[in-house]
Formats: sequence, C-alpha cells, structure tokens
Amino acid sequence: SKLKDPRATSASQAQEIAKSTPVISWMNYANDGEESAAFEAAIVAAYHFTAGMDEETLSTLENSIIVINPAHNPDSHQRHVAWMKGMKVGPNGTPDRIAAEHQGDWLMSTSDTHYKLDSNRDGFALSQKESQIVAKEMRHWSPQIWVDYHGEPEEYFFAPYAIPVNPIYPSSIVKWAEVIGRANASAFDEHSWTYTSREIYDLHYPGYWDSYPAFNGAIGMTYETNGGGDKGFQYYRNDGTISTLKNATAHHVVATIATAKAAAENREGLLNDYYNFFKQGMDEVRDEPVKQVAILGGKQPNDALNLVELLLEHEIEVFVTSDEKAADGISYLYGDTERRSLPVGTFIVPMNQPNKRLAKVLLERNVGIQKEFLDEALAAHNYNNSVGANAPKKRVGFYDVTAWSLPLTYGVEAYGLSNPFTGNLSLVTEADLKVSNTTPGDKANYAYLFSYSSNDAASLMSKLMMEGFRVSMATEPFEREGKSYEKGVVVVRVEKNEESLHQRINELALESNVKVEAIDEAWTDKGILMGARTVVSLKKPKVMVLMDEPTDGRSYGAIWFTLEQRYGIEFTAVRVQDFNRADLFEYDVVIMPPGSAAGYKNLIGDRGINRMKEWIRNGGTFIGIQDGATFAIDDDVNLSSSRRLSGVRVDNTPGAIFRVNLDTNHFLSLGYDQHIPVHVNSATILTSSQQGANVAVFDESAILSGFVFEENKNNFPGNSYLIHEPTGSGNVILFAEQPVFRAYWRGLERLLVNSILLAPSF
Ligand SMILES: [Zn+2]
Repeated sequence: SKLKDPRATSASQAQEIAKSTPVISWMNYANDGEESAAFEAAIVAAYHFTAGMDEETLSTLENSIIVINPAHNPDSHQRHVAWMKGMKVGPNGTPDRIAAEHQGDWLMSTSDTHYKLDSNRDGFALSQKESQIVAKEMRHWSPQIWVDYHGEPEEYFFAPYAIPVNPIYPSSIVKWAEVIGRANASAFDEHSWTYTSREIYDLHYPGYWDSYPAFNGAIGMTYETNGGGDKGFQYYRNDGTISTLKNATAHHVVATIATAKAAAENREGLLNDYYNFFKQGMDEVRDEPVKQVAILGGKQPNDALNLVELLLEHEIEVFVTSDEKAADGISYLYGDTERRSLPVGTFIVPMNQPNKRLAKVLLERNVGIQKEFLDEALAAHNYNNSVGANAPKKRVGFYDVTAWSLPLTYGVEAYGLSNPFTGNLSLVTEADLKVSNTTPGDKANYAYLFSYSSNDAASLMSKLMMEGFRVSMATEPFEREGKSYEKGVVVVRVEKNEESLHQRINELALESNVKVEAIDEAWTDKGILMGARTVVSLKKPKVMVLMDEPTDGRSYGAIWFTLEQRYGIEFTAVRVQDFNRADLFEYDVVIMPPGSAAGYKNLIGDRGINRMKEWIRNGGTFIGIQDGATFAIDDDVNLSSSRRLSGVRVDNTPGAIFRVNLDTNHFLSLGYDQHIPVHVNSATILTSSQQGANVAVFDESAILSGFVFEENKNNFPGNSYLIHEPTGSGNVILFAEQPVFRAYWRGLERLLVNSILLAPSF
C-alpha cells in the first residue's frame, strides 16, 4: 500500500519495494451471478492454487498473492441455480435454444442483485452492499491485476479492450492488458480453443468491475466465457456445435492460471507501473485546467454531505473551508466561468492527491470520449441513417451511458476551480458529516419543523408518514422570530399526533441527519400562519408498483431499492399480468416503471385502460416513467395531452446530462431550485402537455455532460421532462426518463417522492 502514496514514497523507494514484493492478482467471479461458469471456475481455481505442487504453480505463488472472490453476487447465483434445477429436463438439460431452461426468467434467472440492480454498473456508485464490501476489500488488498469473470457471448473474450478506453487512464493499462491477453491467447492456443478480443467490452464507463478497479490502479479486465448461465448445461451455438457448462468452466480456469502466471512473471514491471499510476496522476494536474472541485452545501447541506460521504468511501481526500473567499471556476450547472464567493463549509476536492484519477473520473464535469471511437461511432451512425429502415445496420458502439459526473447526479452546486482555493482548509473525516443540533432539544408545544431541501429531509418526512404520524407541508413562505422560511417546510403538529411523536421525531432526525426545530406557537410574524390552507395535510398513500414482464427489471429494481431502503415507502409490487385482477380503488398511487409501452398496452388491454381512467378521475395518481409515460401518451391510451415528438428523427441518447427549467410554483418542484440537471438515456422526447403543467422543461443549450447526436440536440428545448396533468380529481404524472437511474441518480429522488407522497394530497 506504500506504492499508492507517492507523497510518502519516492520513485527510488518504490523501485526497491517492487523488487522484493509479490504482485497481487484479484480473481473476481460471479459478478453477474447467473453466469454460472464463473462460480464453478472459482472452485476449481481455488483447488488448483491451494493443492498444486507443480513447478509452474509454485513459481506463480512464490511471486504473487492470488485473491479469489468466488461470488461477487451470491444472491443472483443462488437464484439462478435454484431456477435452473427446476427448469432443466434430463440430467444434462437440452441444447435446444428455445428450451425453457435457456430463456432467462424475469425474476429468478437474472444477473442482478437482490434489489434487481446491475452490480456490474455499480462500481463507482457503491449503492449495493455487495459493491461496498468488495470495494472495501479491494482497497485493503490493493491488487495490481483484477479479472472480473463473466459468461455471455458465443466465443471466449479476454483483454485487450474494445475502444473507447477512458482517456483518464494511463497508457500502461492498455500495454499490460495486451501482455496478459497474449499470455491467455498462448494458453488457449495450446488447446486449439477459439477466442476473441478488442471488441464490445470497452473501458469507458467507470462503474464496471474492470474499469472501477482500474481507476484504483489495477489492470482491470473482463473475461467472458462461452457457456453456462442461460446457456445452461449445454447449448447449440450458431454453427451447430454445442457449448457446455463444463467447457466454459475449463476456459475460465485456464485463463485464470495463465493470467496469474503472466502477472507473477511480470511482477516487478506491474508493481512499478502501479506506483506510476498514482504518481503520474498527481504530476499531470500541473497541466490540467481544473485544480480543485468545490462543492457547496446550499440551504440544507445533506445532499452535499452524502456525496462527500461517498468520496470518503472511495478514499478520496476532501477538505472543508473555514473562511469565505472568492474563486474562479466553471459552473457545473451552467458551464460558464464565474467568480464565485465560496462560503464557509464549502467542500474542496483537490485533484493533486494520490487518488486523483478516480477523483477526476467521478467529479469531472464532462469526461471526453476517445476520438478514434467517436469517429467510428459517427461513421456507423451516418451509414445507418443513409440506408432504408429495414436494411442491415452497423453497430454504433455505445455500450453504456456517457455521463455520470457526481456533482450533477447528486444535484449539488459545484465549480471546477482553475486555481487552488487560497483560504483555510481542513481535512474532512466521517465524523464531520453529522449535522449538528439535529434533535430539537426542547419538547415542542406546537409543532416540529424542518426544511425540505434535501433527500435526507424527504426521507425523514416519508418515514414519519409511514409510521402513521400526521405531517403537513407549508407551501408558502413565512417568518417567525426573525427567521425566514422558504416554501416547502415540513410541519408536524403536536396537536394532531400521538404523544409518541416527541420521542420518535428525535430518533428519526438523528437517523436521517436532519436538523429539526421545535416551535411553541402557531403564530408567525409574516406570511402564512401554521393553520393556513396552504399548509397542506399529507395523507399516507397506498402505493402499487408494477413489475415482471414487460417491466424493465433494473428500472423496477432502482425504484424498489429507492423506496424501500432510502425512504421507507411501503408499496405493493403487482405483476403487470395481475393488474386487471387488482382492486385498483384500494390504491392511491400506481407506478408504471420503464419497460415496454406496447407490452403494457397488450397486457392491460382496453378494459384495464378504461378502468384506470375511471380510477384516475376518482382521485388515483398514475406515475408513468419513461416507457410508462409513452404508454400513457399513446393515442389509444390517451391519459395525457402530451405526445411523443414526431416528424423529426429522434436518435437514442446514450446517457447524457441535460439542464431543465422547473416550474417552481408547482408542488412537484418543492425542495428544488429553478434549474436542475437530469439524465437522458432513450430515444423518447415528450412534447408539452396542452392541458396540464409542464413541470420540468428542457432549457436552450441544455447539454451539460455526455454525448448527444448533433441532429438530436435541437429536439430537446421546450419539450418536457416532467408533466403533471390533473384529470378529474386524480393525477397523471409523466417522467420522460428514469429519475432514479441505477440508484445513483440521487438528485432527482425528490421528484419521485413528491409524485408519490404529495400528489395524492394536493
Ligand atoms: Zn456478465
């Protein structure tokens, strides 16, 4: 671990360490837990390295430490195995592709975590327990080699990478991936096995379990074997030959042994470049425009605190200012360079630190894409547009989203500073992230109040509601005892609640890290009084979330995880196929996640759609998200006056970040400032609602981060991200995109919470 700290270890010391230290190779299996050959291979590999007495194995062990993680995602592996045992016919299954055992099940045979989130996209977000644990151990062991074992394609894949390779990596990573790739190739050639490389599996998005370890200094690589998983025990390939679980396992084992051997043989060079990864990262800051990132807390600092907490988990150093000073920096939200006064308590993340590359990829406003890749992608895109709709198309190559800048996904005010902050700074520790005076101290005579401008506050409000406390929302500003309160203050009255409120709100405030105030009278000095009509009583809604086919499992998972783990919002998960059997009138809110709009229409049918309309007219709140929204604006469904943008070509946007303009008079915007960043990851654009409110509308020149096709850029301004269309006494709320994408888009959670908890009462 001395090699990770170039401030304490000189280059010559590092060379000495490299001469005498074993290389550390981390073998990570069953990340996509249902890709079963990886798990099987882990057991064989563990046996090989513990029992092997041959010269080659002993030499590998002499020069390296091999860490075997047999199941990165054990839930998924267990589910799949139980499912496969129940599905397969005969002792070895059947190779026919159409066989039930090869058709992954929405619930039971997926690669996802317990919460149906993709653990192989969670590397930097660390939202899932599995990710947190593996990341912690990774930092403890500090591996130079990291292999993530999978099993999806027809033929075996190993490094080197497909383009794009994230430009923040040093060139040594590609060099070493080539060396290891050659070693694997030789081992495979000995068996006359087929393999491929340099395609599909790129290294741009930092949340995979090859790219994330690689931002921690390892040579991170993905290996994909050709069998097991949905291919079961045996499976017909395209050419009619059969791939088997056994062979797929053998391929992973041979790759493991070859990789460990090559790492051991290149021990010294790998260790030297490991040191250089951190050292050169720091040296490069001199020539880079952004020296520090400033993160501001705003009205309620909790969202910023949560972001800083994640950075500390990544072992990124963060400082806090103790005097106010102005600084020049580029605004994350507006893209212009401003001179901005940074108040006391501003967080400063210096780029000049050992973990600079990781800090940079997570915090940089816009990480560029390798030009060689963009040229290829644009050529394919232009070719596809030049041929007819049914002509064969080229793969455009975007494998994932192109933007994830954490200050934007957390929706916090941030600046990239061109010169280091000149005032006093102190290092932030975990203990500094607790809000002081969270508990009211005194027992309130009249009510407890807290501001609603953070996720933690929304979580506190939600938990109070779910426990049956009566909660209200002040929707207009007021002043009392010389202090002014903006609209969006949560009011929990003593008079309307049980005696247990006093104790419980103290406990929950501590848990949520939110400052709560106790007040003794309903009187205010200015603005509304506590008894005003505009202090809206909220009722605890009964919520249904649709799931199973044709819902997108991971989108449902992000909603599930967010509601259950972050807000404690109770809901009933209902399979779409059972929707028409549910007593809709028992529910206040129905959430339709992303999935297939046509699939929803087929399964729910005219009868179900008509019943849904009647339910909305009578007070139901329908929340359609992405495809749930396109379902609602379909001509035949017609829950809203918005439509899909048509008449122009709309291209798919591979996960870019845009700025929207909020209608701050609307209750769905409570807790937000006027401009916020949102994520766009689809080919759907919603036109303005004619009958309702367009709560969030795309700004002019609104692209903040990531890649958007040139022709598509003009399609956004003026169109809607979020629509509220009151219908009868109910509501239709439409999100053009998934607000809680992969559970790492933290900044938009309150839009969803407001839709669920506020809409039924407003
Ligand atoms: Zn996989």
